[in-house]
Parts: sequence; C-alpha cells; structure tokens
Amino acid sequence: MTSTVASRLDRERERLRAAARACGRDEHEIKLLAVSKQQSVSAILEAYAAGQRDFGENYVQELRQKATELEHLRDLRWHLIGHLQTNKAKVVAGLASSVQTIDSIRLCQELGRRRLAAGAEGPLDALVEVNVSGETSKSGCAPGELREVCAAVEAQPGLRLRGLFTVPPASEDPNAARPHFEALVRLRRELGGDARLPELSMGMSGDLEVAVACGSTWVRLGTAIFGHRSTSERAP
Ligand SMILES: *Cc1c(COP(=O)(O)O)cnc(C)c1O
Repeated sequence: MTSTVASRLDRERERLRAAARACGRDEHEIKLLAVSKQQSVSAILEAYAAGQRDFGENYVQELRQKATELEHLRDLRWHLIGHLQTNKAKVVAGLASSVQTIDSIRLCQELGRRRLAAGAEGPLDALVEVNVSGETSKSGCAPGELREVCAAVEAQPGLRLRGLFTVPPASEDPNAARPHFEALVRLRRELGGDARLPELSMGMSGDLEVAVACGSTWVRLGTAIFGHRSTSERAP
C-alpha cells in the first residue's frame, strides 16, 4: 500500500491524540505544524485538502515562492522555523503568521518595523528560539539573553510575543531530547510562565511523544507527513 500525504497526516493526528491522552493533556492544546521545507507545492496542496492549515518553512526564498504560488488559499498560514537574517525580515514580515526563530534584539526591531510597514492585519506572532543545548552550530539566543530578547519583542507593536522554540541536538533516541525540552519549560517558568509565553514549539517526527509529555503546544512534523525530503534539489 502506498501511503499518501492525507493518510500519513491522519496517522500523525492520531499519534498526537494518543500522546496527549498518555500524559493527560487536552489534545486541543497542541497544534500540528506541517514542515514542508524541500517538499513540493503539490504535496502541500494534498495536506491542505486534508484539512492542514499551518505549514512551516526554513528558507525565506522557498517560503516566498510557495506563498506566491498558493496565494489563493487565503486561510493557509506560513510559519518560519529556520534562521532569519535581518536583511530578509522584510520578505517574511508580510507573509508569515509567525516567526518561531527570533534570536536577537536587532531582528525584533527590524521585523517589528517591517510588519507595520507591510500593512499586514495585526501583529506577527513571535516565538524566541533558545539554544538550550549550547551547541555552537545552533542558532537561537543563549538562555542568558532570553529575558532581553523577550522584552525586545514586547517593545515592538508589530510583534506579539507568543512563546519559545527549540531544536535539541539530533539523536536517534527520542529520550535524549527530554532534558532540552525540560530546560525550555524551566526558562518559560522563570520568565513569567504561560501567561506571558503560552506557546512551546518543540518536538519533531522522532520525538513528538516526549515533547508532548514535556508540554509542547506546537509539534513540527516534516518527514512523518511528507516522507523524505529531496536532498539533491530544493523542491520548487
Ligand atoms: C526540518 C525541521 C523539522 C521537521 O523535522 P522532521 O524530522 O522531518 O519531522 C522540524 N523543525 C525544524 C526546525 C526543522 O528544521
């Protein structure tokens, strides 16, 4: 049997429900972000037809191209989950409904300014990316900078502070992510809890259950929904 995007999406929704049930959480607290990077527009359309509305992209160029092609789908929401350079803030400010990878004060200022200039409806939802593991290869602000970056988001009328985002070190073992997810939860508690930071974007195809058990409100699933990404070429 060949699995389609729609059938995989069904399976992942069920997996999410089961994960929520297993730790006594309300499944409606957890949103599924379909990570469509390096996936085709037709795959996105399949997911859309199956009811998926939130899509995550990592690269600004690719986001722009897909958003243009799918402009007619007015209720489709794009979320940036890759590193954003300040000089590309303008492109994203008018297109995205959230940027989950805010990592500097300068980026807050630029994105906030560009959002207002874009004349978009309402502020842009902002999640601050934290490099909880301290890996030097990772983007995200250091835990010690988080307080300042959150305040910088709140200083921008064009942005709305929503929560925190993290990517743990890659591992085959889903449980290896747990201490990193717990560290993010702890940081949230120190900074005002879920009244100030209601969203925790953490958990991917391999560690969804652990992330949900730790309190995730956004799980980001790529391969589990779309299958393997093309590595030889960027999908248009
Ligand atoms: C690619 C990516 C994902 C999805 O990863 P999968 O393992 O394919 O589910 C989630 N989050 C981020 C930040 C990513 O770059």
